[in-house]
Amino acid sequence: MRKAVLYLMFLMLVLGCNKDKGSASAPVYKVPSEFQPIVDSFIHEAALRGKTIVINNLIIQYDSTMNDLYCALANTTSLDPSIQKIISVNPRVHCYTNEQEKEVLYFHELGHCILGRSHDSRLLPNGDPRSIMVLGNIALYSPCAYPIGGACQDNTFKRTYYLDELFNEQTPVPDWAK
Ligand SMILES: [Zn+2]
Repeated sequence: MRKAVLYLMFLMLVLGCNKDKGSASAPVYKVPSEFQPIVDSFIHEAALRGKTIVINNLIIQYDSTMNDLYCALANTTSLDPSIQKIISVNPRVHCYTNEQEKEVLYFHELGHCILGRSHDSRLLPNGDPRSIMVLGNIALYSPCAYPIGGACQDNTFKRTYYLDELFNEQTPVPDWAK
């Protein structure tokens, strides 16, 4: 029994080491052409805010085994460059109805993988999410967002704040949220 446990521990160590060695190899950059514009836009929006971002470690891939609860998933919130960053996209669900929602979806995932940000469920004084890193809300600055019981509302003016906050968590509360 004891021997078996020791052997198992040994095996885990070996497997663990192999895994570490594997992830320490050169990072892979593999982004399908349909996703490259969104990655370029992420780098551009960061640059507009004085932040230079170089992305050489990123895989974006379709994953048909994903749970349909998810549109896309990032594999890590670690900034450790030896960890391969992977965004998996569910090919079965179409999650967004406009470019703004698409941007929020992928900028959120890039926030995990590239900026190392975790989920943020805090709210602004007006009740809106504080961050694009909120879980499961891609309508933050949609041209047609539906408040509870209300009609379609153009929220595109909120984009500047959400992108400011994505690249700088210290961004102050915007006037529209006071
Ligand atoms: Zn997330």
